[in-house]
Amino acid sequence: MEEKIRQIQEEYSDKIKNASSLKELDKLFLALFGKNGAIDSLSKEFPSLPASEKHTIGPLFNKVKQELEKAIASKREAVREESYQKLESEEFTLQPSRLQARKGHLHLATQFKQEIITLFEKLGFSQFDAPHIELDKYNFEYLNIPADHPSRDMWDTLWVEPGKLLLRTHTSNFWSRIMEKGKTPIRAMSFDRCFRYEAVDVRHSHTFNQFEIAVVGKMGEEITMANLRYLSDYLLKGLLGKEAKSRFRPKYYPFVEPGVGIDCLCVFCHGKGCKICSGTGWFEVAGSGMIHPNVFKATGLDPKKYTGLAWGFGPDRMLMLKHGIEDIRFFLEGDLDFLQKY
Ligand SMILES: [Zn+2]
Repeated sequence: MEEKIRQIQEEYSDKIKNASSLKELDKLFLALFGKNGAIDSLSKEFPSLPASEKHTIGPLFNKVKQELEKAIASKREAVREESYQKLESEEFTLQPSRLQARKGHLHLATQFKQEIITLFEKLGFSQFDAPHIELDKYNFEYLNIPADHPSRDMWDTLWVEPGKLLLRTHTSNFWSRIMEKGKTPIRAMSFDRCFRYEAVDVRHSHTFNQFEIAVVGKMGEEITMANLRYLSDYLLKGLLGKEAKSRFRPKYYPFVEPGVGIDCLCVFCHGKGCKICSGTGWFEVAGSGMIHPNVFKATGLDPKKYTGLAWGFGPDRMLMLKHGIEDIRFFLEGDLDFLQKY
């Protein structure tokens, strides 16, 4: 037993002497005094010692244990002192960090927004914003959607105060507000967020963008369906290239008469029919039409004197198609891989 103690003393004294860092000393401390360390294991052998030996071994064991503890403590001091001295004498050359600063960029949806707005500024459209939290009258009533009208079911609404205040379901509130002011002619656009009480999935989100235009002028100033057609083609060609084409289909929206759904020739199969367009060769991108006489009446303009067109487009869907993005929710999430890719 005595020999074992001396052996440990010798072995560890050497190791402590040669240690050059605090980390090494920590390891040595654990190897000696930690659970199942050299000292701990020795103490477990005590009960089996003959009584005669216990008298001599006990004090020796304690002495060696204390000496080793002290040796580690004083070596720690020495190592610290040495590192302070080294720090004091060391000269630093400060160099620029090797981490390359990465440049940020505009979000894909923001880039697209600017592209679209620039296109329509060229045609003399002015940009407008309208409240996200809106009165029922601007979102529904003025737009020929009275309370209890079944067509309200077309918009799953998030109400702030049922029947009065809501999160706007479309950007159309911007032109009902402008029309109410009565300053004609109107050539206005809005690109902004809308909200619906939707079950969220890869194609639906509770928050999405709409781009909408409204043109109002005096009857006889040649605001016709032909303008609607031209503006639709103008947008699609501007965004997707010269080959892009639009198609009109009759469709019901309460605030327009006649109402049309605007389809875009599939950019992937050029009309032949593919998986993305579900074999039809076209996909729907916008809803539009000539502003309903009831909207003129509600906003205080004479429907016999004025006429107009309005047209709303879902840029998020278009962006998904353009870039092959599979999930609309990516636009609102901060996924870095997605953001860096575009
Ligand atoms: Zn297709």
